[in-house]
Amino acid sequence: MRLVLLGAPGSGKGTQATRLTSELGVPHISTGDLLRAAVAEGTPLGLKAKAVMDAGHLVSDAIVLDMLEDRLSRADVAHGFILDGYPRNLAQADALDLLLRRLGQPLNAVVKLEVPIDAIVERTALRAHEEGRTDDTPETVRKRLQIYQEQTAPLADHYAKIRLLKVVDGIGQVEAIFSRILMALQHPQTVPD
Ligand code: AMP
Repeated sequence: MRLVLLGAPGSGKGTQATRLTSELGVPHISTGDLLRAAVAEGTPLGLKAKAVMDAGHLVSDAIVLDMLEDRLSRADVAHGFILDGYPRNLAQADALDLLLRRLGQPLNAVVKLEVPIDAIVERTALRAHEEGRTDDTPETVRKRLQIYQEQTAPLADHYAKIRLLKVVDGIGQVEAIFSRILMALQHPQTVPD
């Protein structure tokens, strides 16, 4: 199963991806996690990315694509993957499409977790407290949400047009949301034409 999880920052993508990983037996690939690892290791890429991430902006498409390409060349993706945090804009969606075509591994589905903005603001504040992420300050969260609305949200239409999109209600208990995702994956298309 080759899956993309779409949703605003704090919509629960990471939590659901962890569950999907054990259910489907495929790795969770989060471009945010890959970038944070590069920052923690202090690689040249990490040093470059840190300031951009702390400001809530997107790291350059070329850097992230390079990193993703490298990750997708590893053997553990042979049976699929759960992609979280990529693509973030239409250019990335096109790049992903090309890359997966080249690898002969097209996407099976794109699941969008739908969460109202109030709940997002609440969740990210809680996460800032629990995880101490340096990009979860109120100002950065606002910026990331703005970028999400402007650049990432339009991807839902893009994936609906090519009939890959499944919209799932992301409010409620983690287990209930997880069941909704599994249900949605069993159905060919869950959005109206
Ligand atoms: P995330 O953990 O997905 O919320 O990502 C944290 C931060 O990493 C984002 O705010 C961006 O600065 C950067 N990032 C993660 N994924 C991408 C991506 N696909 N394109 C550009 N920047 C990204």
